[in-house]
Amino acid sequence: MSDTHRIFPQSDFQVQELPTDGKLFFPDRKQAEMEFKNGRKELAEFQRRLYAEGKQKLLIVFQAMDAGGKDGTIRKVFSGVNPQGVVVNSFKVPSKEELAHDFLWRIHKKAPSKGMIGVFNRSHYEDVLVVRVHDIVPESVWRPRYEQINQFEKLLHDTGTRVLKFFLHISKDEQKERFQDRLDVPEKNWKFSVDDLRKRTYWDDYMSAYQEMMEQCSTEYAPWYAIPANQKWYRNWAIMNVILSTLREMDPQYPPPEDDIEGIVVE
Ligand code: AMP
Ligand code: MG
Repeated sequence: MSDTHRIFPQSDFQVQELPTDGKLFFPDRKQAEMEFKNGRKELAEFQRRLYAEGKQKLLIVFQAMDAGGKDGTIRKVFSGVNPQGVVVNSFKVPSKEELAHDFLWRIHKKAPSKGMIGVFNRSHYEDVLVVRVHDIVPESVWRPRYEQINQFEKLLHDTGTRVLKFFLHISKDEQKERFQDRLDVPEKNWKFSVDDLRKRTYWDDYMSAYQEMMEQCSTEYAPWYAIPANQKWYRNWAIMNVILSTLREMDPQYPPPEDDIEGIVVE
């Protein structure tokens, strides 16, 4: 199941035709919610092992249109995991200092260290998404980035990091509802931004950018998953499944004690 939404290298797909409706894949919400809850316990156990083992690293990248559910996914999937073992980083509009370096400089510094799970809320992919759509730099600058990203992720992979990338795919109608909700519910007003409305008018351009991002950068060593994200319960369940099956493959183990503890009595 965990490969259902994986974009394989050279696969033929149209992002506009990729499903946004999770019910097509798993109609039983109650069942999905139950499995998700159990999955969280398994994730917490894997995190303890990963940390204790102290060798491997896991990097999980989230990208989506505005209101696509990045924050909610991170909150739901990682609640219950020891906060000391998970580091979440959000990447915003680059600062002056960040812009004075190459685009991967700020990203590389936040890559997870041994034993850790690193979560990126937005990432280096903004540099081929928002940057491309709004012509922040010319094509001669952003186009080579696909290859630069692949090489960067290969480096991470070759030095012990598993990389998973999730595109939370919502429909344009779903985004409309979520924006409206942000306007209507006082507690959600803070999430609303006029700039998000402006970006919505570039929907098709963004879809083209997501398309090429996944075509160019879904590799064997750092796959993209396009997750149907209109239903939060499905989105959470599908992402949890991919993370857990990856951790099963990583198979982190508690290390043996450093000292010979046989026969030791604590007085
Ligand atoms: P939010 O996630 O709502 O706090 O918004 C962060 C904003 O930063 C989004 O509009 C992103 O598109 C923008 N952003 C993130 N990375 C970059 C980047 N490398 N270049 C330009 N804008 C970016
Ligand atoms: Mg926003």
